[in-house]
Amino acid sequence: MPRSALANHHNARFEQLAEELGAIARLFGSRGWTPATSSNFSVRLDGNHCAVTISGRDKTRLTADDLMVVNLAGEAVDGPTGARPSAEAGLHLSLYRRDPTVGAVLHTHAPNSVLTTRLAPDAEKISLQGYELLKAFAGVTSHDVTLDIPVIANSQDIDALAAAADRRLDAHEGICWTYLIRDHGAYAWGPDLASTLRHLEALDYLLGIELELSRHDRRT
Ligand SMILES: [Zn+2]
Repeated sequence: MPRSALANHHNARFEQLAEELGAIARLFGSRGWTPATSSNFSVRLDGNHCAVTISGRDKTRLTADDLMVVNLAGEAVDGPTGARPSAEAGLHLSLYRRDPTVGAVLHTHAPNSVLTTRLAPDAEKISLQGYELLKAFAGVTSHDVTLDIPVIANSQDIDALAAAADRRLDAHEGICWTYLIRDHGAYAWGPDLASTLRHLEALDYLLGIELELSRHDRRT
Protein backbone atom coordinates (compact mmCIF):
# COMPACT_ATOMS: atom_id res chain seq x y z
CA MET A 1 0.00 0.00 0.00
CA PRO A 2 1.59 3.34 -0.99
CA ARG A 3 2.54 5.63 1.88
CA SER A 4 0.51 8.38 0.19
CA ALA A 5 -2.65 6.40 0.91
CA LEU A 6 -2.36 7.73 4.45
CA ALA A 7 -3.47 11.07 3.06
CA ASN A 8 -7.04 9.82 3.52
CA HIS A 9 -6.68 9.71 7.29
CA HIS A 10 -3.35 11.36 7.97
CA ASN A 11 -4.79 14.72 8.94
CA ALA A 12 -4.42 17.04 11.92
CA ARG A 13 -6.65 14.89 14.12
CA PHE A 14 -4.67 11.79 13.26
CA GLU A 15 -1.45 13.61 14.16
CA GLN A 16 -2.98 14.75 17.44
CA LEU A 17 -4.10 11.21 18.33
CA ALA A 18 -0.67 9.85 17.38
CA GLU A 19 0.95 12.43 19.66
CA GLU A 20 -1.34 11.48 22.55
CA LEU A 21 -0.70 7.77 21.98
CA GLY A 22 3.04 8.46 21.82
CA ALA A 23 2.95 10.19 25.19
CA ILE A 24 1.01 7.28 26.70
CA ALA A 25 3.43 4.77 25.16
CA ARG A 26 6.44 6.59 26.64
CA LEU A 27 4.73 6.67 30.02
CA PHE A 28 3.97 2.95 29.87
CA GLY A 29 7.50 2.23 28.65
CA SER A 30 8.99 4.10 31.61
CA ARG A 31 6.89 1.91 33.90
CA GLY A 32 8.03 -1.32 32.26
CA TRP A 33 4.56 -2.11 30.95
CA THR A 34 5.57 -2.65 27.29
CA PRO A 35 8.72 -4.83 27.26
CA ALA A 36 10.32 -6.15 24.06
CA THR A 37 7.97 -4.37 21.58
CA SER A 38 4.94 -5.99 23.25
CA SER A 39 1.63 -4.25 23.91
CA ASN A 40 -0.64 -2.47 21.45
CA PHE A 41 -2.82 0.59 21.32
CA SER A 42 -5.67 1.87 19.17
CA VAL A 43 -8.10 4.78 18.84
CA ARG A 44 -11.35 4.93 16.93
CA LEU A 45 -11.32 7.34 14.00
CA ASP A 46 -14.96 7.00 12.96
CA GLY A 47 -17.81 4.50 12.91
CA ASN A 48 -15.88 1.92 10.90
CA HIS A 49 -12.16 2.73 11.29
CA CYS A 50 -9.51 2.85 13.93
CA ALA A 51 -5.81 3.66 14.06
CA VAL A 52 -3.83 0.78 15.52
CA THR A 53 -0.14 0.24 16.27
CA ILE A 54 1.89 -1.56 13.61
CA SER A 55 3.24 -4.96 14.60
CA GLY A 56 6.70 -5.19 16.11
CA ARG A 57 7.37 -1.48 16.63
CA ASP A 58 9.10 -0.18 19.75
CA LYS A 59 6.15 1.43 21.53
CA THR A 60 8.39 3.71 23.59
CA ARG A 61 9.27 5.66 20.41
CA LEU A 62 5.80 5.66 18.90
CA THR A 63 4.95 8.27 16.24
CA ALA A 64 2.27 8.60 13.56
CA ASP A 65 4.49 6.42 11.32
CA ASP A 66 3.99 3.51 13.73
CA LEU A 67 0.21 3.60 13.28
CA MET A 68 -1.95 2.27 10.50
CA VAL A 69 -5.64 2.54 9.74
CA VAL A 70 -7.82 -0.58 9.61
CA ASN A 71 -11.56 -0.97 9.26
CA LEU A 72 -13.49 -2.81 11.94
CA ALA A 73 -13.38 -5.98 9.81
CA GLY A 74 -9.59 -5.89 10.22
CA GLU A 75 -8.72 -4.88 6.65
CA ALA A 76 -5.80 -2.47 6.23
CA VAL A 77 -7.04 0.82 4.82
CA ASP A 78 -4.10 3.21 5.21
CA GLY A 79 -0.52 2.66 6.27
CA PRO A 80 3.09 2.20 5.25
CA THR A 81 3.89 -0.40 2.59
CA GLY A 82 4.02 -3.91 4.01
CA ALA A 83 2.81 -2.85 7.45
CA ARG A 84 0.74 -5.32 9.42
CA PRO A 85 -1.43 -4.32 12.37
CA SER A 86 -0.42 -5.58 15.81
CA ALA A 87 -1.01 -9.31 16.10
CA GLU A 88 -3.71 -8.70 18.69
CA ALA A 89 -5.58 -6.05 16.68
CA GLY A 90 -8.50 -8.51 16.48
CA LEU A 91 -9.13 -8.05 20.19
CA HIS A 92 -9.28 -4.28 19.77
CA LEU A 93 -11.64 -4.55 16.79
CA SER A 94 -13.92 -6.91 18.65
CA LEU A 95 -14.29 -4.31 21.44
CA TYR A 96 -15.05 -1.55 18.91
CA ARG A 97 -17.60 -3.73 17.11
CA ARG A 98 -19.46 -4.78 20.24
CA ASP A 99 -19.86 -1.21 21.53
CA PRO A 100 -20.01 1.84 19.22
CA THR A 101 -19.22 4.12 22.19
CA VAL A 102 -15.77 2.57 22.68
CA GLY A 103 -13.25 5.20 21.54
CA ALA A 104 -9.89 3.70 22.52
CA VAL A 105 -8.29 0.42 23.57
CA LEU A 106 -4.97 0.05 25.41
CA HIS A 107 -3.20 -3.26 26.02
CA THR A 108 -0.02 -3.79 28.02
CA HIS A 109 1.98 -6.64 29.50
CA ALA A 110 2.25 -4.87 32.86
CA PRO A 111 3.81 -7.16 35.50
CA ASN A 112 0.95 -6.65 37.99
CA SER A 113 -1.53 -8.07 35.46
CA VAL A 114 0.61 -11.12 34.78
CA LEU A 115 1.48 -11.72 38.46
CA THR A 116 -2.18 -11.50 39.45
CA THR A 117 -3.23 -14.28 37.10
CA ARG A 118 -0.15 -16.39 37.94
CA LEU A 119 -1.05 -16.30 41.63
CA ALA A 120 -4.69 -17.24 40.97
CA PRO A 121 -4.34 -19.99 38.35
CA ASP A 122 -7.97 -21.09 38.56
CA ALA A 123 -9.66 -17.70 38.92
CA GLU A 124 -12.13 -16.70 36.21
CA LYS A 125 -12.33 -13.21 37.64
CA ILE A 126 -10.57 -10.90 40.06
CA SER A 127 -12.87 -9.02 42.43
CA LEU A 128 -11.88 -5.55 43.59
CA GLN A 129 -13.88 -4.26 46.50
CA GLY A 130 -14.16 -1.15 48.63
CA TYR A 131 -11.37 0.95 47.14
CA GLU A 132 -11.79 4.71 46.67
CA LEU A 133 -9.95 4.44 43.34
CA LEU A 134 -12.71 2.21 41.93
CA LYS A 135 -14.36 5.57 41.18
CA ALA A 136 -11.76 6.00 38.41
CA PHE A 137 -13.84 3.51 36.39
CA ALA A 138 -16.56 5.33 34.46
CA GLY A 139 -19.98 4.78 36.03
CA VAL A 140 -18.67 3.91 39.51
CA THR A 141 -19.74 6.58 41.99
CA SER A 142 -18.86 5.06 45.36
CA HIS A 143 -16.06 3.05 46.93
CA ASP A 144 -18.75 0.73 48.29
CA VAL A 145 -18.90 -1.60 45.28
CA THR A 146 -17.35 -4.78 43.98
CA LEU A 147 -15.93 -4.67 40.48
CA ASP A 148 -15.24 -8.00 38.81
CA ILE A 149 -12.41 -8.13 36.29
CA PRO A 150 -12.81 -11.09 33.90
CA VAL A 151 -9.77 -13.36 33.46
CA ILE A 152 -9.56 -15.04 30.06
CA ALA A 153 -7.28 -17.94 29.14
CA ASN A 154 -4.47 -16.98 26.79
CA SER A 155 -4.32 -18.29 23.22
CA GLN A 156 -2.28 -17.64 20.08
CA ASP A 157 -5.52 -17.97 18.11
CA ILE A 158 -6.63 -14.33 18.22
CA ASP A 159 -10.06 -15.04 16.70
CA ALA A 160 -10.73 -17.66 19.38
CA LEU A 161 -9.42 -15.31 22.06
CA ALA A 162 -11.67 -12.48 20.80
CA ALA A 163 -14.67 -14.84 20.77
CA ALA A 164 -13.88 -15.98 24.33
CA ALA A 165 -13.59 -12.36 25.48
CA ASP A 166 -16.88 -11.53 23.76
CA ARG A 167 -18.67 -14.38 25.52
CA ARG A 168 -17.30 -13.30 28.89
CA LEU A 169 -18.32 -9.68 28.34
CA ASP A 170 -21.80 -10.76 27.17
CA ALA A 171 -22.23 -12.71 30.41
CA HIS A 172 -20.67 -10.03 32.62
CA GLU A 173 -22.88 -8.28 35.15
CA GLY A 174 -22.00 -4.75 36.19
CA ILE A 175 -19.47 -2.22 35.01
CA CYS A 176 -16.58 -3.61 33.00
CA TRP A 177 -13.81 -1.58 31.33
CA THR A 178 -10.97 -4.07 31.56
CA TYR A 179 -10.13 -7.74 31.33
CA LEU A 180 -7.01 -9.75 32.04
CA ILE A 181 -5.53 -12.40 29.80
CA ARG A 182 -3.87 -15.09 31.88
CA ASP A 183 -0.04 -15.00 31.97
CA HIS A 184 -0.18 -12.24 29.37
CA GLY A 185 -1.50 -8.81 30.34
CA ALA A 186 -4.45 -6.44 30.55
CA TYR A 187 -6.87 -4.85 28.13
CA ALA A 188 -8.69 -1.61 28.94
CA TRP A 189 -11.12 0.47 26.93
CA GLY A 190 -13.32 3.52 27.33
CA PRO A 191 -15.17 6.27 25.48
CA ASP A 192 -11.88 8.07 24.73
CA LEU A 193 -8.14 7.83 25.22
CA ALA A 194 -8.09 9.75 28.52
CA SER A 195 -10.71 7.54 30.20
CA THR A 196 -9.06 4.39 28.82
CA LEU A 197 -5.73 5.49 30.29
CA ARG A 198 -7.47 6.18 33.60
CA HIS A 199 -9.06 2.72 33.61
CA LEU A 200 -5.75 0.96 32.92
CA GLU A 201 -3.88 3.01 35.55
CA ALA A 202 -6.59 2.34 38.15
CA LEU A 203 -6.50 -1.37 37.36
CA ASP A 204 -2.73 -1.54 37.76
CA TYR A 205 -2.79 0.44 41.02
CA LEU A 206 -5.51 -1.79 42.51
CA LEU A 207 -3.87 -5.03 41.34
CA GLY A 208 -0.61 -3.76 42.87
CA ILE A 209 -2.31 -3.29 46.24
CA GLU A 210 -3.97 -6.71 46.05
CA LEU A 211 -0.59 -8.29 45.26
CA GLU A 212 1.02 -6.51 48.20
CA LEU A 213 -1.80 -7.70 50.45
CA SER A 214 -1.37 -11.28 49.28
CA ARG A 215 2.39 -11.08 50.03
CA HIS A 216 1.51 -9.87 53.51
CA ASP A 217 -1.08 -12.65 53.93
CA ARG A 218 1.46 -15.28 52.96
CA ARG A 219 3.91 -14.03 55.60
CA THR A 220 1.42 -14.06 58.46
ZN1 LIG B 1 -0.24 -8.85 24.30
